[in-house]
Amino acid sequence: MIQDNVRKILEELPAQVELEAAAKTRSVKEIEQAVAGGVKIIGENYVQEAESAQAVIGRKARWHFIGHLQKNKVKKAVKIFDLIETLDSQKLAEALDQAAAGANKVMPVLVEVNSAGEQQKFGVLPERVLSFIKGLLPLNNIKVVGLMTMGPAVGDPAASRPYFEKTKRIFERIKDLDLDGLEMKYLSMGMSDTYQIAIEEGANIVRVGSAIFGPRE
Ligand SMILES: *Cc1c(COP(=O)(O)O)cnc(C)c1O
Repeated sequence: MIQDNVRKILEELPAQVELEAAAKTRSVKEIEQAVAGGVKIIGENYVQEAESAQAVIGRKARWHFIGHLQKNKVKKAVKIFDLIETLDSQKLAEALDQAAAGANKVMPVLVEVNSAGEQQKFGVLPERVLSFIKGLLPLNNIKVVGLMTMGPAVGDPAASRPYFEKTKRIFERIKDLDLDGLEMKYLSMGMSDTYQIAIEEGANIVRVGSAIFGPRE
């Protein structure tokens, strides 16, 4: 079932788009089935869950963090994740930079954009993204490689389109600046009910949970 869901989604994805399985609350067995179906990126909201799953699955997939990262989990997160998708504060950036320096690593990150404005708690407001990113450039042990957004939390999937479009515009504008130390490579947008729209608006990573694993309890 999970394997079939993954195969079907992979068949319809354009070549430049990567499928990330959003694995929160799923068992290691379920995640393994997604990997067997061809998923190459696992998205985790909780450091602890990721750690237990990774202990079994290992590096057969890349591991992305897509939750809200707490300062006391930063060290572990730097160790187990290949990409942190939800950087949204200078404080967190500094903590990640320090932890990555301690681990002798450059930690790739995406900046989370609060594209729907005040409806969400997390993410950098669209008009602040560029100055936020400029403030990160002196931190040598993190590297911004793109943007992530959730879009509006509720409502008709079609209502997400303008927010995806806006995030893509910010992405392109910053990419065109060609700033030193910045590589605008990934645009992570879209979930189970919105990923087709997100792809039309330029996403190259889509984070899909329930369409792979079934509804969450
Ligand atoms: C849960 C989650 C998803 C996937 O949501 P579905 O609606 O189950 O596809 C995507 N992104 C983030 C950040 C999530 O927490």
